[in-house]
Amino acid sequence: MTATVIDGKAFAAKVRGQVADHVARLKEDHGITPGLAVVLVGEDPASQVYVRSKGKMTVEVGMKSVEHRLDAETSEEDLLAVVKSLNADPEIHGILVQLPLPGHLNEDLVINSIDPAKDVDGFHISNVGLLGTGQKSMVPCTPLGCLMMLRDHHESLSGLNAVVIGRSNIVGKPMAQLLLGDSCTVTIAHSRTKDIQDVVRGADVVVAAVGRPEMVTGDWIKPGATVIDVGINRINAPEKGEGKTRLVGDCDYESCAEVAGAITPVPGGVGPMTIACLLANTVTACCRANGLAEPE
Ligand code: NDP
Repeated sequence: MTATVIDGKAFAAKVRGQVADHVARLKEDHGITPGLAVVLVGEDPASQVYVRSKGKMTVEVGMKSVEHRLDAETSEEDLLAVVKSLNADPEIHGILVQLPLPGHLNEDLVINSIDPAKDVDGFHISNVGLLGTGQKSMVPCTPLGCLMMLRDHHESLSGLNAVVIGRSNIVGKPMAQLLLGDSCTVTIAHSRTKDIQDVVRGADVVVAAVGRPEMVTGDWIKPGATVIDVGINRINAPEKGEGKTRLVGDCDYESCAEVAGAITPVPGGVGPMTIACLLANTVTACCRANGLAEPE
């Protein structure tokens, strides 16, 4: 069997198109432009790349993009003051503080200082609690993107066995909550899980969010299962030339694609959906702030 490739890049482009349409309507009908502010502290190269592409795509869909770049030594007090001013700014509907923060800053404190209604990353403790209790919340972008791809591929997720590998607060745990919300039978596997291959082999849906290159191989996968690979790992690629690298997921694409029914590639799978969902969350936050109907 060769798996259907779930094209996250194309799906994300479609989602961004829907966001752009909604933004145009908000401007035309209500004179409102959704605004997204991204706060970056320090010079982490990966974070700089993410922030740049977030800003570019925000503008492309017609929204207002604001960037606050603070130096690595910024004090907690100064960072909290920036968040406070964004919380109070009526033109800003979404606030994202790029993680990880430099070690001297308390991430939980900073994230929980964001107005939960503007917390488009969905990491604020209030949004975590709302998601956990099945209430309307801001949903973390990466798991939301995974869920959208799964819903698009499956007529219904109800009753399916889902295994999420990884239990981080930003991916694994919210992913499990979302799958539970769609009535999957959910197992969360992690570094202490015994006989993890056997656990994964029982899954109709596998979401791998581990950060270990190509850890999940085809012999872990139940024939026909859907595999969503969240991992982004850079490995050496001597075949491309000396010192060259390439990106791989947490799943060994070749062997998993032999067995799975559907699979997301890396790159071009979950990654593009994450930014598309960030833009969608910003529009949702803007609609809620203005008492308008939310996008579907
Ligand atoms: P974390 O490091 O926070 O969490 C990794 C999880 O994997 C932990 O729960 C850990 O278990 C588990 N784990 C580690 N080793 C093993 C193992 N050998 N077997 C089973 N489980 C294991 O990572 P994140 O959740 O932040 O990210 C995961 C991956 O997803 C990374 O590659 C990251 O780059 C990528 N990512 C991609 C995004 C995208 O947009 N596509 C967005 C966010 C992340 P334990 O808790 O027991 O230590």
